[in-house]
Amino acid sequence: MRVLVFGASGRMGREIIRLLSENEQGCRLAIAVDRGESSAIGQDAAILVGCSALNVFVQADGDALRDLNPDSFDVAIDFTLPEVSVIHAEWCQRWKKPFILGTTGFLPEQEKIIHDTAKTIPILWAPNMSIGVNVCFALLRKAAEMLGPEYDIEIIEAHHRHKVDAPSGTALRMGEVVAKARNTTLKESAVYARQGRTGARDASTIGFSTIRGGDIVGDHTVLFAAEGERIEITHKASNRGNFARGAVRAAAWIANKPAGLYDMMDVISRNNDAV
Ligand code: NAD
Repeated sequence: MRVLVFGASGRMGREIIRLLSENEQGCRLAIAVDRGESSAIGQDAAILVGCSALNVFVQADGDALRDLNPDSFDVAIDFTLPEVSVIHAEWCQRWKKPFILGTTGFLPEQEKIIHDTAKTIPILWAPNMSIGVNVCFALLRKAAEMLGPEYDIEIIEAHHRHKVDAPSGTALRMGEVVAKARNTTLKESAVYARQGRTGARDASTIGFSTIRGGDIVGDHTVLFAAEGERIEITHKASNRGNFARGAVRAAAWIANKPAGLYDMMDVISRNNDAV
């Protein structure tokens, strides 16, 4: 698979390029794109991440979208910004190319564009590409179903100081999973902040707490608390390699899939050819 990486000089883009330099999952770097103002433009993408030269030079986004030969790649991976990712998704739609989307923090109208685009091309969209986190989603669904409403649910997440959206996309997805298991939605049940005289906890709520600091890659805990006991399901990422490996695995998996919106559970499910 020949891969186009959008956001090539970002924290995630670099991890992905490192893996593609080693032909992870039979995928190789074909095109690297970043915003026009990036100091990486014109540099060999592999040298940028400390690997041997690949002669794939980072291109400016505007130029790339205008000039790229769509026959030169098979799948695109995007870890950029929501407003940029939707443009890239529509560009991939124009060329009928599968799209792996890792960006988080979308507004509802941007989410709608992704849903609409997935009607005509395969899009794998996951706020967290780590296999471990996706296994946690399955555990959380089971726990919420089995524990029932007498267990209060709180979601705590911690990330590095550069993260621009909150709560994290992963925390929100965890919230959606437990909300659905309780026959509700985050719209009805989420509490994103508490301050001052809040009153006693409303049992129907799902609370979120956000920590930002230093270089924390990503910690998530879902707490189920009742009288006399509590259960915590925690995932801690110690580096970005697990997200990048998941994204590359998704890129290898999505080849030849029909149009539609997929997530990492589709990739790791035992009922398909990826395991
Ligand atoms: P980052 O800021 O380090 O990287 C973003 C990159 O996008 C930068 O290099 C930036 O220059 C580039 N960019 C901006 N505009 C662009 C454009 N028009 N065209 C091409 N590139 C452009 O951020 P990051 O830590 O790599 O995270 C990126 C996104 O991925 C965030 O939304 C983050 O929350 C998300 N993320 C998702 C996962 C996951 O598993 N799904 C894991 C980590 C981060």
